[in-house]
Amino acid sequence: AYNFSPGPATLPEPVLRQAQATMLEFGDCGASILEISHRGPDFIAVAQQAEADLRTLLSIPDDYAVVFAAGGATTVQALLPLNFAAPGQACDYVVSGHWGKTAIRQAAHCVDARTAASSEAGGFRDVPARADWQLSPDAAYVHLTANETIHGVEWRDAHLSEAVEAGNAPLVADFSSSIASEPLDIAKFGAIYAGAQKNLGPVGISVLIVRRDLLERSGQPRAPIFDYAAQARAESMLNTPPSWNWYVLGLTVKWMLDEGGVAEFARRNARKAALLYAAIDGSGGYYRNEVAPGARSRMNVPFFLHDPALDRTFLDEAKQAGLVALKGHRVLGGMRASLYNAMPEAGVQALVDFMREFQQAHG
Ligand code: PLP
Repeated sequence: AYNFSPGPATLPEPVLRQAQATMLEFGDCGASILEISHRGPDFIAVAQQAEADLRTLLSIPDDYAVVFAAGGATTVQALLPLNFAAPGQACDYVVSGHWGKTAIRQAAHCVDARTAASSEAGGFRDVPARADWQLSPDAAYVHLTANETIHGVEWRDAHLSEAVEAGNAPLVADFSSSIASEPLDIAKFGAIYAGAQKNLGPVGISVLIVRRDLLERSGQPRAPIFDYAAQARAESMLNTPPSWNWYVLGLTVKWMLDEGGVAEFARRNARKAALLYAAIDGSGGYYRNEVAPGARSRMNVPFFLHDPALDRTFLDEAKQAGLVALKGHRVLGGMRASLYNAMPEAGVQALVDFMREFQQAHG
């Protein structure tokens, strides 16, 4: 089956097979990868290789630290203001969908989390126009969600260039659902972060890539375990890290490098998204996507059938055809196809073939 889940999402088959084998016996350790100490040489080698490969894959500049931490993107959203803003300081959020609002909710208890711009009034069908942003002069950072997984809205091209040029405060971006999907100039950001479970590996671990000077900010009172500077100094091992997740993340990153890296995935992802949007737009209104063309996500494509009464039949028949997890998020309804790096082009071709046949049968 082809799995279009938004996350936890499909993983590359070679990664799953290697993970399966090492779950029983890891190298000559005489134990499973799940059973070895995170402080022993075997796991230290795994952790260091994963970071080195991620640095290569994403061309991470040397003046950026990488922190691997337990928890998801929401955990990072909660830790950003604690680490990078003073108590009550203004933090600007540019909101283009559900996850931007989540980020504000996680921050609002300890900083002045301001909505600098939002496209909510238009139903989150676009990114907020740069001209409408109301930035605070004293903001600790400006936050945006590079790709809104539910609403299918992505900062692309001119929009993204405008955003990275905005204002004096460092730009912090949630790349949970588009990290490693195309080349990115990380030097334009103060920090980027992602929960792993879309493009990077299994759920349970997050990655924060942060410019080192931001780690010198005092932030506000927090437990030592929530201190990103301390985590960076301890190479993400202040306590027992989610070692299995880190290991499988490393396998996934290595797989992406072996496949040709982010430039190759950019080409594949562009072709996959073009194929699906063309099928939707060419269906004569049978299917529709409501996002402004310049902000359409390459990773998550929400779409609606012309008659919602057909939704259940569509999902049932899709499943019989080996196309699973197409149900849209409850916030939007309809359908959603997630096309992360591990989704092969053949999967998208199978989906558009099915959509055409469904329209012919039920049209
Ligand atoms: N940000 C984005 C863009 C997401 O897609 C998600 C989850 O799907 C989250 C944040 C929340 O991530 P987590 O569940 O890992 O906390």
